[in-house]
Amino acid sequence: MPHMFPLKVFANLASLTVALALFVLLTKTAHATSQPSSPHLKVMASIAPVYGLAASVMQGAGTPRLLVRPNQSPHDYVMRPSDARHLSEAQVVFWIGEELEAFLERPLKNIASQAVHVRLLDTPGLTVLPAQDHHDHQADQIDIAEHIEAIDPHIWLDADNAIAITRTMAETFSALDPSRAALYTQNAQNLIEKLVKVDTRLSKQLAPLHNRPYFTFHSAYQYFEHRYGLHAQDIVNLRPDLSIGPKALATLRAKALALPKFCVFLEPEFDQQTTRKYFVGTPAIFDQLDPLGANLEGAENFFPDLLEKMGASMQDCLSPLAATSPRS
Ligand SMILES: [Zn+2]
Repeated sequence: MPHMFPLKVFANLASLTVALALFVLLTKTAHATSQPSSPHLKVMASIAPVYGLAASVMQGAGTPRLLVRPNQSPHDYVMRPSDARHLSEAQVVFWIGEELEAFLERPLKNIASQAVHVRLLDTPGLTVLPAQDHHDHQADQIDIAEHIEAIDPHIWLDADNAIAITRTMAETFSALDPSRAALYTQNAQNLIEKLVKVDTRLSKQLAPLHNRPYFTFHSAYQYFEHRYGLHAQDIVNLRPDLSIGPKALATLRAKALALPKFCVFLEPEFDQQTTRKYFVGTPAIFDQLDPLGANLEGAENFFPDLLEKMGASMQDCLSPLAATSPRS
């Protein structure tokens, strides 16, 4: 059987090749995983926008946990037992600061004392704006949640701030989990590129909408407005979780009745029925702004989507309106 010899050689060669390939593969795999075999970081994010940024930066190395569900307001959030449990397990907690998540100040010290706390209001390079004055529209009763903040904590609604936060997150993760530093850095770079694109698009898209009249019921938007040159005819700086007083309501309705068509932006996490009632008999057009991403899904693209949807809502409602002179 003269053909046996070459066949056997071939078979041996083949098995040698397979063995060699396996060896190379195993060595490679061992090499690739030997360093990042450390367990994934346990990360907790206070609100959905923070969660979205963290999820993008740690993509491929686990997912963060979210504390405040996006259909709830962080201004008056009450922690549940499961929140406390998750907090106690976290290694890193990202939050904006006590100006937004007042409920979290004590639990961070008591429950999450072992974790690294990153107060995002301290992010290097952040633009922080003073709180919008809303004394005129103050609720009749003084609520505990209504501590008058000196600064506006809705910092994520400025794309440059989101980029600064992204960098801080990548640095935090890399310091705590150095074996995956390259991954965190690359993820952050990808996210920053996306944010720059969305920002550029929004600048063009919203430029023609200066001086279109609208009302909001939550002083959350000045970062977005500053960035894209939007000027509200009037902003009722009242959070709908606080009821409006009769005097303030009369002033609001007088302003609304003096306007041609205008937009009223409601929010998914607040009571919309009450807000609608304020505008009965006026030419209000209702739309929604979603500064927390309550209507969004997914993790990795959550934050760019959030900015994009905000811009789309503004454009949809404001485009058909006539421009009015800016408020004095
Ligand atoms: Zn808010």
